[in-house]
Amino acid sequence: MTAPLRVLVTGAAGQIGYSIVIRIADGTVFGKDQPVQLVLLDVPQCSNVLEGVVFELQDCALPTLHSVEAVTEEKPAFTGIDYAFLVGAMPRREGMERKDLLAANVKIFKSQGKALAEYAKPTTKVIVVGNPANTNAFIAAKYAVGKIPAKNFSAMTRLDHNRALAQLALKTGTTIGDVKNVIIWGNHSGTQFPDVTHATVKKNGNETDAYSAVGDNAFLQGPFIATVQKRGGVIIEKRKLSSAMSAAKAACDHIHDWHFGTKAGEHVSMAVPSDGSYGIPQGLIFSFPVTIESGEWKIVQGLSFDDFAKGKIAATTKELEEERDDALKACDD
Ligand code: NDP
Repeated sequence: MTAPLRVLVTGAAGQIGYSIVIRIADGTVFGKDQPVQLVLLDVPQCSNVLEGVVFELQDCALPTLHSVEAVTEEKPAFTGIDYAFLVGAMPRREGMERKDLLAANVKIFKSQGKALAEYAKPTTKVIVVGNPANTNAFIAAKYAVGKIPAKNFSAMTRLDHNRALAQLALKTGTTIGDVKNVIIWGNHSGTQFPDVTHATVKKNGNETDAYSAVGDNAFLQGPFIATVQKRGGVIIEKRKLSSAMSAAKAACDHIHDWHFGTKAGEHVSMAVPSDGSYGIPQGLIFSFPVTIESGEWKIVQGLSFDDFAKGKIAATTKELEEERDDALKACDD
């Protein structure tokens, strides 16, 4: 029998956590033949809620759920894990300054980076969902260094990627399966650059580039980008709650593809430590197009940019460098 994978979800009492755990437990992420030991971490004030989630998971009677436990301390949470979904983060409260938010999150992700180094398997793979996700991943990686390689740390831009696919399908009157190879460059924030230059759309049996399929460059360089960038805010306005179902689904897509690999001829967007590709400073956790094989991601090379794209990529790079520098200042060592 296949050995179980031990999978941690932090912030598991929250709304994204609630939508993520069922997909991990029911085989959607790691396959229907792969048993999973699920570990749910949240702050002690949430222990009752966490217990409720554990009870619901038990009641789902899932053949792939080997075990599920709720914890409120890092040692039992991180011990022996194969994958970590780091969802819990300090939310921005009214009147809170950006630097205070960053400092609060540096504290959480520094501690979790150290816990990963101390207790997790050296092969553990990490996705950070909690915002500011790219910089939180940078901090966690910094404190796990020497034990877990930086390449095992990533942040989620897959929701932005999925939003771009969906907008392109809607605009061209096609379905998701007909659209591929959009790219999210940079930060999971308003400066991200959703890029369709290398995307294709299949319509009536013919595959063409996205620009030809849409036939409206002004739309692709204007409203399309703004819709993807601002989608999270629009959902909050409508639902009075932030996106949780789509965020959870995207996190699961991210780890599914990291575990099983990308389809031939397709890439996905993942924020990973830059190796200097496309002039992005080394180590910055930056969203790139990646292909994945045997659990290893590779940044797609050789893509060309026009001046429009260069400007957008420069802006998101600058924002991430500033975030990184502020976060490093908030680390007191
Ligand atoms: P959510 O489950 O809605 O969100 C969790 C995190 O995901 C937030 O940082 C949120 O950022 C981020 N996020 C990233 N992408 C998206 C997206 N597309 N849409 C929405 N959110 C996104 O928050 P809840 O408040 O419901 O739950 C958070 C839980 O985390 C709480 O139970 C809390 O106790 C816990 N927590 C746990 C910690 C720990 O385990 N050490 C530390 C801190 C908190 P944004 O805030 O920008 O929406």
